[in-house]
Amino acid sequence: PPKPPVLVRVKNAKKYFKLKKGIFTKNQQYVKAVDKVSFEIFKGETFGLVGESGSGKSTLGRVVIGLHEADEGEIYFEENEITALNKREFQKVRKEMQIIFQDPSGSLNPRMKVQELISEPFDVYTKMTKKEKEEKVSILLEKVGLGVEKKLSYPHELSGGQRQRVCIARAIALNPKFILADEAVSALDVSVQAQVINLLKDLQKELGLTYLFIAHGLNVVRYISDRVGVMYLGQLVEVAETEELFDHPLHPYSAALLSTNP
Ligand code: ADP
Ligand code: MG
Repeated sequence: PPKPPVLVRVKNAKKYFKLKKGIFTKNQQYVKAVDKVSFEIFKGETFGLVGESGSGKSTLGRVVIGLHEADEGEIYFEENEITALNKREFQKVRKEMQIIFQDPSGSLNPRMKVQELISEPFDVYTKMTKKEKEEKVSILLEKVGLGVEKKLSYPHELSGGQRQRVCIARAIALNPKFILADEAVSALDVSVQAQVINLLKDLQKELGLTYLFIAHGLNVVRYISDRVGVMYLGQLVEVAETEELFDHPLHPYSAALLSTNP
């Protein structure tokens, strides 16, 4: 079958972190977080990323959406090379790429009401009136399965799952094309994980979203992903369709990882 169009293309991406110089280390030390990684993400798919802690998943995700500048390599978003854009040009593209993190309480300002949190992107990127923003917030709350009355709540008054729904509402507020979900459900109870994942799936269909879905929970990744990439020591050692990978991992490291308990 013909391949679907590509939304994100990563070519030979490298990202090193400079370590602080210690008393006993004479030379500058580096951590190789992402080492010559190339892959693509098709429009409309969920690309799962697995690998043990410290293998470079988050760094790769951040390089893809420009939160980290790659040391080497190129990132293309819809055929635009974002690694070649200046700050202002990049801001426009950045709007199309959103991120949802692991710890919802940490990424939501505790002093802001749900309504303000969700309309924050409108304040930054649009000139919508107060009334327009309020209307849009109500629509978004409904989309993510939260009652409209929740708009006056503060983050600490919500459950973990509800807070993650607020994060999702904020992430889709500007109609992005791409969402990086980095351990987005990892901190939630298993039953709540399932609810949030089903919400992400429904929104994907409704809004035509593309996901890069990072998680250390193998079951979750297997359930949501169309294709999965395995990271090991900063390298992407295998990419395959989800069931193919779980049934017949080709790389020895994938085989070892996938045979461990979820
Ligand atoms: P994962 O998400 O798979 O757990 P990370 O991308 O967070 O892995 O980390 C990859 C490697 O890069 C690790 O060795 C980590 O310690 C290092 N690293 C990540 N972020 C930073 C940073 N901001 N400064 C220095 N080292 C970092
Ligand atoms: Mg991580």
